[in-house]
Amino acid sequence: MNCFNHSDIPAVGICKSCGKGLCKDCLVEMPDGLACKQTCEERVKYINFLIDANKQILTATRFHAKSATIFLFVFGGVIFLLGLIPYLISGEKGTLFLAALGFVFLILGLLRLRKKGSFPVPDDSQ
Ligand SMILES: [Zn+2]
Ligand SMILES: [Zn+2]
Repeated sequence: MNCFNHSDIPAVGICKSCGKGLCKDCLVEMPDGLACKQTCEERVKYINFLIDANKQILTATRFHAKSATIFLFVFGGVIFLLGLIPYLISGEKGTLFLAALGFVFLILGLLRLRKKGSFPVPDDSQ
């Protein structure tokens, strides 16, 4: 492949944004990839920013999902017991709706615990 701008010069790299072949004079080396001099520099900078930002968002999202699951599970368990114990001790039925609610939360938490891999994980090769 030859340079997109100089058809007689062999390309030494490919722009990360537009994918054109570039010779040494036409490319700029960015911290993480190559860009067409001037035309694609900002865009490659933005692509790199998006990749880094997505990594952080994925990490935060996984953490939030895990927290929500643990919360559902623990909260559901506590509400379930708070609703059930008065009934077991004194036959009080007024709190059974709490037990039912807690049970639903517990089941939702269990379902979430069993569901793994909802978010993409990079290969080891990357
Ligand atoms: Zn380009
Ligand atoms: Zn060139």
